[in-house]
Amino acid sequence: MIVPLLLLVAEHAAPAGPRQTLMHLSYIVASGLFVLALKWMNSPTTARRGVFAGEVGMLIAIISTLISHQVVSFELIFIAFLVGSAAGVPLAYLMPMTAVPQRTALSHAFGALAAALIGTAEYYKMQPNVPVGIMVALILEMLLGFLTFTGSLMACGKLQEILPTRPIVYRNQNIINLSILIIAAGLGVYLIVHPEQTVLFPIFAGLSLLFGVLLIVPIGGADMPTVISLLNSYAGLSACAMGFALDNKLLVIAGALDGSSGFILSIIMCRAMNRSFTNVLFGAFGQIQEAAKGKAEARPVRSATAEEAAGILDAARLVLVVPGYGLAVAQAQHKLRELYDVLTRRGVDVQFAIHPVAGRMPGHMNVLLAEADIPYDKLHEMDDINSDFAQADVALVIGANDVTNPAARNDSSSPIYGMPILNVDQARTVMVIKRSMSPGFAGIDNELYYMDKTLMLFGDAKSFLGNIVKEMAALIKAA
Ligand code: NDP
Repeated sequence: MIVPLLLLVAEHAAPAGPRQTLMHLSYIVASGLFVLALKWMNSPTTARRGVFAGEVGMLIAIISTLISHQVVSFELIFIAFLVGSAAGVPLAYLMPMTAVPQRTALSHAFGALAAALIGTAEYYKMQPNVPVGIMVALILEMLLGFLTFTGSLMACGKLQEILPTRPIVYRNQNIINLSILIIAAGLGVYLIVHPEQTVLFPIFAGLSLLFGVLLIVPIGGADMPTVISLLNSYAGLSACAMGFALDNKLLVIAGALDGSSGFILSIIMCRAMNRSFTNVLFGAFGQIQEAAKGKAEARPVRSATAEEAAGILDAARLVLVVPGYGLAVAQAQHKLRELYDVLTRRGVDVQFAIHPVAGRMPGHMNVLLAEADIPYDKLHEMDDINSDFAQADVALVIGANDVTNPAARNDSSSPIYGMPILNVDQARTVMVIKRSMSPGFAGIDNELYYMDKTLMLFGDAKSFLGNIVKEMAALIKAA
């Protein structure tokens, strides 16, 4: 977040000829690196390279901006750098993986606030004659920036459970929200034509901030990752508008990339959950969960011990592992790696089936498994591996629930009906590690658990996997 701010502090100074050319060239290189970064981050095998390319691109952008402009105060920039680092470094190191969605929301909030404040400063600085073109860009930047700021703070609060996670709904909510947006946008249009009417500006800013809050409160905490991705897109578009206002081409490109990739990600997430944007934004999905929870009934299931599970796994030829949110909660990825190692040594073919929305953020499972150094070529996207379940001896489900629920295929009344799922129920034997019969994110019962071929392995994923590994060792020793 601090980086575009630094770029902009420097942006206001007078340009210098050859240095200006160097800056433009550096910006082209940086933009190219940003595009490559996005492309490389598409695949686990090239993701590290993608992150590195993005970092180098940003470094080039910062250095070239700093040396190509007459910076007003290096001291202030340095202080801002220290403050940003003091907040950002501990945040990056101390926050657990499961808290990444709310950390991301916080980053978007600060990024959007920076964009909105810079727009505000520009607006007042250019008084009384702000050109219409600049004013259009500034209004867009501030509207999106302010609403993304408060919206992202609300999303972070809901995910961190500082705020109520359930959707807060009241009568005529959508009409009220829409009216506030229309009034804010109307004031924005008026300010474009009459920028000298500064008295209206605080009202415009206040309504934009309020709209951000009201947009997010009716959405359930569980939908926040999708919403965050959408807010990411808004923050990017705000930065893009800021680029137009400040005539900074790099900001235009980086903002557009951010805006479009955030939007595409939201679409991918909605598709993977078989939800529409309107359903996520106005569907109050958390309410459906509460209603569904009440319907769960106590039915008999078959359970097994770690010793029994070890025996079944040892006898298998093909084991398909299905990781889910519970794996992240339990931080069981390293134990899973141990199990993978021991099974592979025993000649069992172990492959990993990754659902696009397993966990609580896109790529959640890939990141977890990469952390435990599970080879990338063992990780398979849902569409690539779904047909293999029918040949699998065992489907080992670890802390995954909704992404395996056959109701998505069979029950048209289910809230997840239509969501593409992993064909776990087609494996010869299904083993599910979870602590209880509690539902997952969607709050609904899972038919998979009641099937004859399913064995429930009740316990925390980390300790249960540890026990299976121990039992496997005992089994090998005894053989
Ligand atoms: P779910 O939320 O459906 O289920 C997770 C399961 O993990 C729970 O049933 C829970 O059962 C179990 N669990 C929790 N803690 C532990 C633990 N310590 N040890 C063992 N098990 C544990 O997760 P899925 O990954 O299957 O599905 C993800 C859901 O999140 C989908 O519905 C998806 O639509 C939604 N979603 C995903 C997003 C993404 O980007 N990935 C974004 C937004 C929503 P128990 O409490 O009994 O242990």
